[in-house]
Amino acid sequence: MRVLVTGGAGFVGSHLCDALLGEGNDVVCVDNLLTGSLRNIAHLKNESRFEFVQQDVNEPYDVGRVDYIFHFASPASPVDYMEHGIETLKVGSLGSFHSLDLAKKYGAKYLLASTSECYGDPLEHPQKETYWGHVNPIGPRSVYDESKRFAEAATMAYHRYHKVDTRILRIFNTYGPRLQLNDGRVISNFMKQALRAEPLTVYGDGQQTRSFCYVSDEVDGILRLSRADTHDPVNIGNPTEFTILECAKLVLKVTGSSSPIAYEPLPQDDPKQRRPDISRAQRLLGWEPKIDLEAGLKLSMAYFRQAIAIEGASKAGRPQTVSV
Ligand code: NAD
Ligand code: UDP
Repeated sequence: MRVLVTGGAGFVGSHLCDALLGEGNDVVCVDNLLTGSLRNIAHLKNESRFEFVQQDVNEPYDVGRVDYIFHFASPASPVDYMEHGIETLKVGSLGSFHSLDLAKKYGAKYLLASTSECYGDPLEHPQKETYWGHVNPIGPRSVYDESKRFAEAATMAYHRYHKVDTRILRIFNTYGPRLQLNDGRVISNFMKQALRAEPLTVYGDGQQTRSFCYVSDEVDGILRLSRADTHDPVNIGNPTEFTILECAKLVLKVTGSSSPIAYEPLPQDDPKQRRPDISRAQRLLGWEPKIDLEAGLKLSMAYFRQAIAIEGASKAGRPQTVSV
């Protein structure tokens, strides 16, 4: 197949490009590098089946005939999407329409990267796909949450009205190599702080929960969903739940760091709990995650060390000799 990945220079998107190439597909990666990096796809520079197009998907574009479209373009870290609020609203709306129009034009299959944030600060726990969510439509996170909810509505509409063969993936907190060092997400912050012997910044009392999925498990779920015959949303995430304080302590254990914990204010509308019910993924895709948080953090450590070294070299004005 010839496959289009929007947001393919981002964290998850670049791993997806690798996996799709590994399955023998030709991959076109379209990305405007707003929150992604060429470093994530540098290893594909000489891959003849890989093409990178620097393009804002909020503007109309066409990359020629494609058989499958994975729409992953969107800032994903709260720090990023709050900094780029309007772009985030546009990429879920205009960006989704543009990629859905390409799917309609070429008869391509379509998979939307949606999010657990569709459930907002959930009152149902764990979250099943049937839960409609609890989102503040005018709060600071709404630029992301409502953008993704709109993208899901647009995806279902193109399926219903234009018969596009669509899938909706709800990703829960995913981490691993290529997570941007400075994107402000909890794993990147904690790993960076622990490895630099700086205090780990726990927001609030650290009793809020998240469920962390290692990126190779996530990509396995994405590929399985892409082949499945289902149009309703499917949660792909690791159902083992941690408080953020437990997560901080695990990062200290894995890195062997003796950094202290520093408590900082909880951001507005920060979800108090989050854990996927993955029974739909288990039943329809035969999927469940294999890598627990401790193992995943160990697998990510070399990457974070390298990323810190690259940043240090660049700040010191030295050539960046470390490759990621
Ligand atoms: P990321 O920021 O690393 O990647 C997003 C990519 O999209 C970046 O390369 C960025 O440059 C690109 N992009 C943003 N706006 C664009 C535009 N207008 N035109 C072209 N490219 C654009 O984030 P990620 O964690 O890899 O997330 C990828 C997708 O998965 C996103 O859609 C995100 O909402 C979704 N998701 C991720 C997580 C997670 O935990 N990582 C959780 C839920 C959902
Ligand atoms: N968080 C934290 N310290 C940090 C970064 C994040 O305590 O340095 C908390 C944040 O308040 C949230 C959780 O960790 O409760 C996950 O945050 P993240 O930004 O990774 O993603 P979210 O799940 O909120 O989208």
